Amino acid sequence: MIEDRALCTLEKPGGAKSPIGLFIAPLVRLRRLALLTLTLLSACQLLQAGGRTMFGTVRDRHRGTPITSAGIQIFDRSGILLTTTTTNAQGQWQVSIPVVGITDQGELPRTFSLEQNYPNPFNPSTKIPFTVVKSGNVRITVYNILGQLVDAKEYDLQAGSYAVDWKATGSAGVLFYSVEMGGERLTKKMVQLDRGNSTGLGNLSVMSSHVNYNLSPEFATDSCRIIASSFVYEPDTLTVAFVDSARGDFMLESVHDRALVIDLHNDVMEVILRTNYAYQLADRHTTDHTDIPRYRDGGVDGQIFSIWISPTTYSSSTYFSTAMKFLDTLKAQANRNKNDMGLVVRADSVDSLSRQKKIAGIVVVEGGHCIEDRLENLLAFYAAGVRVMTITWNNSTSWAVSAQDSRADNVGLSEFGKQVIRTMDSLGMIIDISHVGRKSVDDILATSKNPIIASHSGAYALRNHYRNLTDTQIRAIAQRGGVIGVVFYPPFLVSSGQARLDNVIQHIDYIKNLVGNADCISLGSDFDGIEVTPTGLENVTKFPAITEALLQRGYTRQDVRKILGENFMRVFRTVCK
Ligand SMILES: [Zn+2]
Repeated sequence: MIEDRALCTLEKPGGAKSPIGLFIAPLVRLRRLALLTLTLLSACQLLQAGGRTMFGTVRDRHRGTPITSAGIQIFDRSGILLTTTTTNAQGQWQVSIPVVGITDQGELPRTFSLEQNYPNPFNPSTKIPFTVVKSGNVRITVYNILGQLVDAKEYDLQAGSYAVDWKATGSAGVLFYSVEMGGERLTKKMVQLDRGNSTGLGNLSVMSSHVNYNLSPEFATDSCRIIASSFVYEPDTLTVAFVDSARGDFMLESVHDRALVIDLHNDVMEVILRTNYAYQLADRHTTDHTDIPRYRDGGVDGQIFSIWISPTTYSSSTYFSTAMKFLDTLKAQANRNKNDMGLVVRADSVDSLSRQKKIAGIVVVEGGHCIEDRLENLLAFYAAGVRVMTITWNNSTSWAVSAQDSRADNVGLSEFGKQVIRTMDSLGMIIDISHVGRKSVDDILATSKNPIIASHSGAYALRNHYRNLTDTQIRAIAQRGGVIGVVFYPPFLVSSGQARLDNVIQHIDYIKNLVGNADCISLGSDFDGIEVTPTGLENVTKFPAITEALLQRGYTRQDVRKILGENFMRVFRTVCK
């Protein structure tokens, strides 16, 4: 490497003759020429312009897959941005830190600093921020990659921090902006995505008249900080020491993988029972929606598993015993896969299982008919580990009216129904009102003191289906601190035709806009309880697509984490003590 570097430096002064060119004539043996050319090329690429070379890879922490177009920012020890780059299709990046190129003098100015205006330069208008530590004349120039002047302005300034507006002018591409003061000059790069004929350099604004910015007295040669970031990933920072080259390999965790992801409704139990246990959660399937390997792909940490007893298939006197039998089957599944999952009755168990990379299962009995009008059956469900009950399925009970019932708007809970609600409150059992009629929901809200959930429903204002929630219901659930698991079932999302992932996002958006925040929103897929799925949400592997869509829609990472799981965890923690 030492010899190669000596050859490369030939290239530097003015680029009179390429170092490769110098060696071509004396060489007769082609094979040797080819080898030497290759060596020269790679070495010269690395040490271009006398810079220090930094390179590395950015990969997905859980999958090991390369992350394309990840942003790399490299800062010196004092926090000044030296350069930026992005990863290629293989997730690789490489930069030569232009020690010479970044300033004309080969060292950073002592009288001012120039901040990189990343990521703003991608917009048609941006600001160029800089700081001067003494008063004097400051000249700002912008020129293109050919070195042609695009715009220039001068200012007489006191010490302080400033920002100059830049409004796109000239052609699209890389532009350089320089700040000069007292014979010192500093240049940085910006990218103008579109050509523009706007005003170029414009107003100067004073950001601060206090200079507390610690200017770098000299270029920090011993270490630097590399930040890797990407849209759907959490950023990561590495500090590396380097002399001539340094390597920075990143394993970024996506926003989705970092978040606790809990889905509020799944019917895979039905698939297991329908196939007479041929369908096992442990195996990866190409049919149906749910299994452990696919949960892993989907980054799912928690699932409410439904115990649903068809009120028509089974006779009413066997609802409870059948539900208990189904619960045993679910427990057997969890037990058989205890390295991958566990059933939980408390919120902190979700956290601890998640730390062990296991999926937390929460059990819901979907339909109050399963208690067969007896409070002791409700108590037995609780004792067996059930922590959620959907008050009705599509069938009404003697004590609660379902949303599908023609009496739904007028008839609500009976006195026994209210007793069920109060018992659930006192036990610490979450009340689920998906499938429940409007008057019954009103009665539940008036009777319960706890936050309640609608585990798998949409917004009625977007799709007027009886299974969806009215604005009043959404507001009431939100006000109580409850959550709505937005359902993926196409007929609840759109009135006709195939639904897409975007339609789920529309329902989320609607609820967020109605309530004014995202605190009552969760996901309630209803996977394996639905015969069709939206395009883009075909099975449990697709949950990351929701995260990506929400981020693209401008949801904050905090709101995304709430929707993915934190909102439900709040309810779980509050109700199930
Ligand atoms: Zn359902």
